[in-house]
Amino acid sequence: MPELKLDSDVQYLKGVGPRRAAALGLAGIKTVDDLLHYLPRRYLDRSMIVPIGSLQANMQATIIGMVLGKGILKGRRQRLEVVIGDDSGYIALIWFAGYRYLEGYFKKGDLFSVTGTVTYFQQRQIVHPEVERIEDEAAQLIHTGRIVPVYPSTAGLKKAGITGRILRQMVSRALDAVEAGIPDFLPDSYLTEHCLKTLSRAMRLIHYPEKMDDAEAARRRLAFDELLELQFLILSSRKQRNKASKSHAYVKPGGKVRQFLNKLSFKLTEDQEKSARKIFADLQSDRPMHRLLQGDVGCGKTVVALLTAVYAAENGLQTALMAPTELLAEQHYRNWVEPLREIGIEAALMTGSLTKAERRRLDDAAAAGEIDIVLGTHAVISESVRFKNLGLVVIDEQHRFGVMQRGRLIGKGMHPDTLVMTATPIPRTLALTLYGDLDISSIKTMPPGRQPSKAVWRTGAARQEIYEFLRERLKSGEQIFIVYPLVEKSEKLDLQAAEDAYIQLKEQVFPEFKVGLVHGRVKREKREEIIKAFQKRELDILTATTVIEVGIDIPAASIMVIEHAERFGLSQLHQLRGRVGRGGKRGLTIAVALPPVSDLAKRRLDMFQASSDGFKIAEADLQLRGPGEFFGTRQHGLPELKVANLAVDADLLPAAREVIVNLLSGKRAPDNDDSMLLKFLEGRLIGRRTMTRFG
Ligand code: ADP
Ligand code: MG
Repeated sequence: MPELKLDSDVQYLKGVGPRRAAALGLAGIKTVDDLLHYLPRRYLDRSMIVPIGSLQANMQATIIGMVLGKGILKGRRQRLEVVIGDDSGYIALIWFAGYRYLEGYFKKGDLFSVTGTVTYFQQRQIVHPEVERIEDEAAQLIHTGRIVPVYPSTAGLKKAGITGRILRQMVSRALDAVEAGIPDFLPDSYLTEHCLKTLSRAMRLIHYPEKMDDAEAARRRLAFDELLELQFLILSSRKQRNKASKSHAYVKPGGKVRQFLNKLSFKLTEDQEKSARKIFADLQSDRPMHRLLQGDVGCGKTVVALLTAVYAAENGLQTALMAPTELLAEQHYRNWVEPLREIGIEAALMTGSLTKAERRRLDDAAAAGEIDIVLGTHAVISESVRFKNLGLVVIDEQHRFGVMQRGRLIGKGMHPDTLVMTATPIPRTLALTLYGDLDISSIKTMPPGRQPSKAVWRTGAARQEIYEFLRERLKSGEQIFIVYPLVEKSEKLDLQAAEDAYIQLKEQVFPEFKVGLVHGRVKREKREEIIKAFQKRELDILTATTVIEVGIDIPAASIMVIEHAERFGLSQLHQLRGRVGRGGKRGLTIAVALPPVSDLAKRRLDMFQASSDGFKIAEADLQLRGPGEFFGTRQHGLPELKVANLAVDADLLPAAREVIVNLLSGKRAPDNDDSMLLKFLEGRLIGRRTMTRFG
C-alpha cells in the first residue's frame, strides 16, 4: 500500500474502501486533506461527564447513559418517564409535555447524553432535560473523559454506514498517518506575528482539542487560511481585471454633462462632486471601472449615477441601471425622463409589468441603440434584452442582487464600466473583505438644508397619544408615512394586516384626513397615481408596506410611523428613517413596537433612537444580530465562509489582506516562502468551485 499523503484519495485510508469513498466524495471529501478539513460541528466535553451514581439533588450535570426502560405513567399528572443508566447507577428522566413525540425517540439500549438539573421526588430524577442521542459506540470511548468531536452528517454518509463513530475513526487514522507530514505554507514569521498555530498542530487540535480553548485556537488558524484564500481570490481577480481593457473610449466631458448640471435645481455637494470626478477619471481610463458608491439614504447617489450615464451617452454609449424594485425603477424614470429628454437623451423604463408589445418595442429600441439609458428592474437582465453598445452598468442598492445577476448584466456589454451603489454601509471592519476588489467612493454629507431626522420608539400602549400627536401635525399641514412590515414568509398575512390597518385609519382614526395605501401588489399605474397624489399633497397619510424601504423618495413627508418596529433589523430601520424630512422640515420617525418585544429588539430600538450615523448603526447591527444572522440574511452579499467568523475574527482580516497584497505586489522577487504560499493559494483557487468575487 502506498504511503498515505495529504493529497491521497481517501479510499486508501484504512477502513474506507471504494464504497465509503464514493459516499464521502458526495459530501465533498475526496482526499485525505478534505477529510481533515471536514470540521466538527461541535464537541462533546466528556471530560465533564458525571457518573450517574454520584448525582445529587440540585446538581446541574451532564451524564451519558443507556435507555433501560420507558413508559407513559398515568397519575395526578400524566408523564413520560425514561430510565437511563450507566455502570454506576440509574436515574429517571421526566417529561410532562410533548412526550408523545418523545416517547418514540427513546429506544431501549440507545445511548443518550443528558443535561439538566437533578431533583428528588420519591426518586432522583431530571425533569425536562436536554437530551441528545449518541450513536452506539464502545463504552470505553465514552468514558475516556476527553473532548470528542461531533461531525455534521448527511443522508448519504448515513446510508453508506458512515456513522459519527466511524468518521471519528477515519479522521483519527488520517491524522496519525499524515500529521507529521503536513507542511505549513505559512512562514514562521507570520505565525509568530499573528499568534497562530502551525497547520499540523491546528489540524490535530481542531479534531482533538485537549481543552476547549485549543479548539478555538485551532479554528483561528484555519480561519486565517480561509481569509487568506478569500483575499487572494478578490485581489487576484482585481489584478486580472486591471489587465482587461475596454473597447470604448471617452473624450473629455462636454456639452451634455454641462447642460445636465444646469438643469438641476441644486448644486452638487462637495462629496457628490468628488465622487463624480473619480468616476469620470475611471471612465476615461482604458481599464473597466469597478466602483462602489456608498452613502446614507438620501445623500444623493442617484444624481451622480445619472450624471455618469449622461457622460456615457455623450460618448455614444448606453447605460443600464438596475434597481431592486419596480417602485424604485419607476421613481427614477418619473424623476428623470423629462430633464434627460430636454438635453436629447432618451431614457426608458423596463420592468416586468410591461405588456408583450411594449416590451418588444423596447427590446428592439435598445438593440438598435435608440435608447441611451435603460432604467429597470431584474427585467433588464432577461435574455431578450440586448444593447447596441452598453458602456455603463449601474446597480442601485447592490446588496439586493446576487453575484450572478450582476454578472449577467455586465455580460451584456464588452467590459462595461460598472458602478454599484449602496445605502447599507458595511461595517468598516468588513468593507475590505467584501469590497476588496472595488474602489470605494463615499458620500458622507447630506445635501444642504436637510436637518438630521429625529427618531423615538414607543410601545403600542402609547398609541392613543401617538394618534393625537399626529392629528396635531396633520392639522398644521404635515404629511405622514405609515410603514408596515412585509416579509416574504408571511407576505399574505402582512398584506392583510396593512390593508386592515389602512381601513381602520381611514374610517375610524383619521376620517377627517385623506389616507392612501400602496404596496407591491397594487398595479403599476395605480401605484404611480397614489404616489403622485401624495407628492401633490392630495393625500395626508400614505400607508405602505416596506416596499418603500429601498430608495423611494417623497420629500414632502416629514413624519414616519413604523409599525411592528420590533420586527425590523437595525439597518432596515435606519434606511426607513432616511425617507422623511427631506423637504426642509425636520424629519421625525416614530417606531412603534408591539409585544412581545425581546430584549434584543429593545436594544436595537434604543440604538436606533440614539444614533443616526449609518456606519455606527451598521457596526451595532453586526454586534446585536450576531454574525450568523447578519450574514444569514444575505443582506450584505457576503461570500460564504465556513470557518472564519467575521465578527470574531475581524482582526485577522487586515492581516490576511496584508499578506496577499505583499505577495501580489510584484515589488520584490519572490523568495521560497512566497512561492510556497502562492502555489498553495493557486491550488486552492482552482479547487474552488464557487467564485465569490463581485461581478
Ligand atoms: P440616495 O442616495 O438615497 O439614492 P437620492 O439620489 O434619491 O438619494 O437623493 C435624495 C434626494 O436628494 C433627491 O430628491 C435628490 O433630488 C436630492 N438631492 C440630491 N443631491 C442634492 C443636492 N446636492 N442638493 C439638494 N438636493 C439634492
Ligand atoms: Mg437611491
